Amino acid sequence: MSLSELYQEVILDHGKNPRNLREMPDATHVAEGYNPLCGDQIKVFLRVAGDVVEDASFLGRGCAISQASASMMTQAIKGQTLAKAEELFENFRDAVTTQADGGCDHSSEPTFEDAFQDESLGVLSCLTGVRNYPNRIKCAVLAWHAMHSALHEGSKVTTE
Ligand code: ZN
Repeated sequence: MSLSELYQEVILDHGKNPRNLREMPDATHVAEGYNPLCGDQIKVFLRVAGDVVEDASFLGRGCAISQASASMMTQAIKGQTLAKAEELFENFRDAVTTQADGGCDHSSEPTFEDAFQDESLGVLSCLTGVRNYPNRIKCAVLAWHAMHSALHEGSKVTTE
C-alpha cells in the first residue's frame, strides 16, 4: 500500500465513520469554525476539568477531509492535558502548513513506517499529506483552530 493510499484509507474511514460526532451538553468550552473556501463548518465541544481535556466532540458538515480531521482531532486530544493538546495543535498545524519538512526524504516513495515516524503526531501524520494539496489545508486545520480558540477564549482557561 502506498503512503497516499494509506492516507486516503484513514481519512475515508474517519470521514465515513466520524468519532465523537455528537453534541456535548456539559461542555466547558465550545467554538465554531468556518472555512469559506470549501464551505466546511465545525463546532467543537470540550469538557475540561483541571488541566485535562476529559471529553471532546464535534458537530459539522463539509468535505471528507474537514470531517475526518475533526474526528481525528477529538480522538487525539481526549484525555490529554491542555499543554499536550496545545502541543498537538502546534505540531499538526506546522506539519500541515510547512512545505519544507526537515528530515523527510522526498526523493523516494515514503514507506508505511515513514507515515508513523513522527511519534508526536502518530496517526495524525496521515493528514499531513494534505500539504501537497494547498487548497485542502484549510479543511484539515479547521477543527484544530476551532479547538484552539475554544480553549483560549473559554472562560476557564489559564495561561499558567
Ligand atoms: Zn473542505
